[in-house]
Amino acid sequence: MTEQTTTTQTQFSDLGISGTLLAATKAAGMEEAKPIQAQAIPPFLEGRDILGVAQTGSGKTAAFSLPILSRIIGLGTKRRPRTARALILVPTRELAVQIETVVKTLAKGAHVSTCLVLGGVSRNSQVRRMQQGVDVLIATPGRLTDLVREKEVILSDTTWLVLDEADRMLDMGFINDVRRIAKATHPARQTALFSATMPKEIEQLANTLLREPVRIEIAKQSTTAAEIEQSVVIARTKQKRKYLSDLLANESMKQVIVFARTKHGADRVTRDLERDGFNAAVIHGNKSQNARQRALNGFRDGSVRILVATDIAARGIDVPGISHVVNFDLPDEAESYVHRIGRTGRNGANGAAITLCDPTEASKLRQVERIIRMKLPVTADITDQPDPVRPAQARGNEGSAEGQKKPAQPHRQHAKRKGNGSAQRSGERTESQQRRPRRGRGGGQAGRARGKAA
Ligand code: AMP
Repeated sequence: MTEQTTTTQTQFSDLGISGTLLAATKAAGMEEAKPIQAQAIPPFLEGRDILGVAQTGSGKTAAFSLPILSRIIGLGTKRRPRTARALILVPTRELAVQIETVVKTLAKGAHVSTCLVLGGVSRNSQVRRMQQGVDVLIATPGRLTDLVREKEVILSDTTWLVLDEADRMLDMGFINDVRRIAKATHPARQTALFSATMPKEIEQLANTLLREPVRIEIAKQSTTAAEIEQSVVIARTKQKRKYLSDLLANESMKQVIVFARTKHGADRVTRDLERDGFNAAVIHGNKSQNARQRALNGFRDGSVRILVATDIAARGIDVPGISHVVNFDLPDEAESYVHRIGRTGRNGANGAAITLCDPTEASKLRQVERIIRMKLPVTADITDQPDPVRPAQARGNEGSAEGQKKPAQPHRQHAKRKGNGSAQRSGERTESQQRRPRRGRGGGQAGRARGKAA
C-alpha cells in the first residue's frame, strides 16, 4: 500500500475533472476539492484501488463518484439488461438515497442512469428499473443479494465497486453478503473501500478485495472533530427525561439529534418529548422507509427541530446545521459515540455534544474516553436531586415553568405509557445486536438480519 499526504486548496480541474462534471461541481457549490477528493480522485482516475479511512462529512461521496462518472460518461448508453457498470454498496437506506442524490447532482447534464436497490420498499420497481441495465447502482447488501440470487441483477459487467461505510456493514452482519456480492462483480474491476474505522476484519476484507490500494487517511481513527464541544451530565435514568426536556427548552439548541440505544428507547424518548410539548420525529429500523424519509426530510428542511434516532438509522445522515447532539444514553459500542457526535460540527461549523450518563453507564463512558483519547468534562451531576414526579402526576402543573415549550398536543396527552417510561430495559438488544447473526444459527437465512438495513 502506498501512503498519500494531505494536499491543500486544490481545484477540481487540477485533479482531471472536466466538462459537464466540472460545471456540476461548481453548480453544487464545490469550489475547491476537499482533502479526500484531492487525494483520491487522481489515483482513482488512473485506475488504482482506493482504501479510504474517512467519515461521512469528509466529502468522500464526490471523491468516488466524480472519477467513476468521468469514466462512465465516455462509454455511451449501450448496456446489457440487468447489469450495472458501477455498484456502490452501503449499509443503510438513508445513505443510499443520499448518495444517489449526490451522483445525480454531479451527473447533471450527462446521460447517466442510476438505480436504488434497497430493502423495505417494493422490489418490483427496482427490478423494472434494472431491466435496461444502469450506469450506477446504489444498493444495500440484503436486497441486492436477493435480486442477484434471483438473477434480476447481474453483476458480471460491474467494473467499479465502492464499499462505503464498510465498518458499519460489518457491524450490521452484512460482511458475508458483501464478500459474495464483490465476488459476483467483474474480476478486473476497480474497487474503493471507505470506512470510518479500520477494525481487523475490515483490514482483512480490504486485503482480499483490493489490489495494491492507495491508502488515504483523512481523520485519525476514532478521534473527534475539534470543533465539537463535548460534555457529560451525570443523571439517573429516571432523571434523564426531565433533564432532556429542560435542555431542549433552550432555544439556542436549534437543531438537535437525540440518540437512544434501542428502538424502544427511541420511541419512549419521542413519546415523552411529545408529551412535554415538543415536536420531535423518530427514526429507527422498525419504521417504514417512507416514515424514515419523512422524518429525515422534516429535519432537513427545518420543520422538525428534534430528531430522535438509534445509531444504525442515523449512520450517514448528512444534515448541515445540526447544532447539538444529545446522547440520551451511552452506546454499547464506544465507536458509535464518535459517529453520533460527528453529526454536528460538520464542515468546520461549531457543534455541541451532551451525554447523559447514568452511574451504571460509567464503564461505557470510560470506554468512550479511551477511544477518543480524552477525558470528557462533567458539567453537572444531578444524582443528589430527587427523581422528578411522573408526568401523569405532574401534568396539572405543566406549562408554568416552561413557557418556551409549545403547548402539549391534546391527542398526545392520552398516549399510553409503557412501564415507567424512563428506565432502559437492560434486556433490549440494540439494532446492531439484532442484525448480527445469533450464535448457533450458523449464519443461515434465519439468523441473518438482512433486507431491512436500518
Ligand atoms: P460526504 O462526506 O460525501 O457525505 O460530504 C459531506 C458534505 O460535504 C456534503 O454536504 C457535501 O455536499 C459537502 N461537500 C463535499 N465536497 C465538497 C467540496 N469540495 N466543497 C464544498 N462542499 C463539499
